[in-house]
Amino acid sequence: MERRISGHTQLYGLIGSPVGHSGSPAMYNYSFEKLGIDAAYLAFEVPLEKTEDAVNALRNLHAGGFNVTMPCKTAVARLVDRLSPAAELVGACNTVVFEEDGTMTGHITDGTGFLRNLKEHGVDIEGKKVVLLGTGGAATAIAVQAALDGVSEIAIFNRKDEFYANGEETVEKIKNAVPGIRKVYIDDLGDTEALKQAVSGSDILINATRAGMSPLEDVLPVPAEFLHKDLAVADVVYNPRETLLLKKAKEAGCRAVVGGIGMLLWQGAAAFELFMGKEMPAQEVMEKFFK
Ligand code: NAD
Repeated sequence: MERRISGHTQLYGLIGSPVGHSGSPAMYNYSFEKLGIDAAYLAFEVPLEKTEDAVNALRNLHAGGFNVTMPCKTAVARLVDRLSPAAELVGACNTVVFEEDGTMTGHITDGTGFLRNLKEHGVDIEGKKVVLLGTGGAATAIAVQAALDGVSEIAIFNRKDEFYANGEETVEKIKNAVPGIRKVYIDDLGDTEALKQAVSGSDILINATRAGMSPLEDVLPVPAEFLHKDLAVADVVYNPRETLLLKKAKEAGCRAVVGGIGMLLWQGAAAFELFMGKEMPAQEVMEKFFK
């Protein structure tokens, strides 16, 4: 460490709360060292009400950029000078780059990270029909990025809980921003007949709800008998690595079965590229930190 940190070392970081469990410092610092980049990455515990102070501090310290996690993602989107098209639509950002003139650009890499992970598993979304379960943070980023990247149809399903209205809003935003999309709608996850029909005519099923994640590891977000061989099934949940949904998808012989851990890797890799203008050694990071 004493050989790596110099008077010129550029600061990068993560803000949010809690951040103590984050794998980001290990992932970025390993990559800096591997690529010989004179930079260091730290996690800063920042509650929502201190978001603006933290952002100003990073700007005044001439940090190169920073990542943002909950609960600060929406607040930071309001503080930056400009947003990427996806971050603008989602209304949140997880990556902020300081430009040469000191202004801040906010990006969201959750959607690109998820789609990159699909691609790494041989699943392309362009022109495809997708059923997306969920209307929370992860689901919104995925819906928006999939629409921007040329998916043909998105059927969003969610429980009629406090997240449902967010899904209705996302549908309207996508219709306005991506008028070329063939179809985008939301329906009640409790309407099993509508869900069955949507899944039977789809190429890709994505679970972006908490179902399957500890302590909901026994919750299957869609009946196993709806899964079919022409379907690629992807989960955002990575704890456990193989969710009940993925297990059932394997048993049903689905054409691809994709876990959530790769999304975590690739959203970080996308942020690294925005910071550095070069690729993160993603495969090595995967082997070292995410297996
Ligand atoms: P969120 O709180 O914003 O949204 C939660 C979503 O889950 C809502 O759509 C809600 O209706 C749904 N939900 C909750 N309980 C449910 C149940 N019992 N049955 C069906 N639906 C239920 O959460 P988020 O930030 O969008 O995270 C969702 C999941 O995605 C979490 O498991 C999180 O760990 C995971 N995630 C993974 C990555 C990654 O990099 N792989 C990134 C972000 C989030």
